[in-house]
Amino acid sequence: MFPDENDPSVDWGTLTCADFIALCTDYLEGALALDDRARFEHHITVCQGCDRWLDQIRVTVEAVGGLEEDLVPAGVLDGLIHAFRDWKASTPGALEKPAL
Ligand SMILES: [Zn+2]
Repeated sequence: MFPDENDPSVDWGTLTCADFIALCTDYLEGALALDDRARFEHHITVCQGCDRWLDQIRVTVEAVGGLEEDLVPAGVLDGLIHAFRDWKASTPGALEKPAL
């Protein structure tokens, strides 16, 4: 059963905007525990910035999900791969999941 927004046993206030952003991927993949999902969805109702952020992520995921690798010219793909590797190599921890 999904927690009731008025349930005092649910700690609604501990989800920060940083927590929200860190949980976005898991939320969109349906991988959040029920309590975390409830706190996540509650945060959207009280934080317009994160609500907009989530909308933008959804639009981006939908747009990118429709792209196919063969639609990208080979030279462009190679350039992106090299740029991404260089960025990753020069940015320690760049792709690590933030600690919760
Ligand atoms: Zn927020």
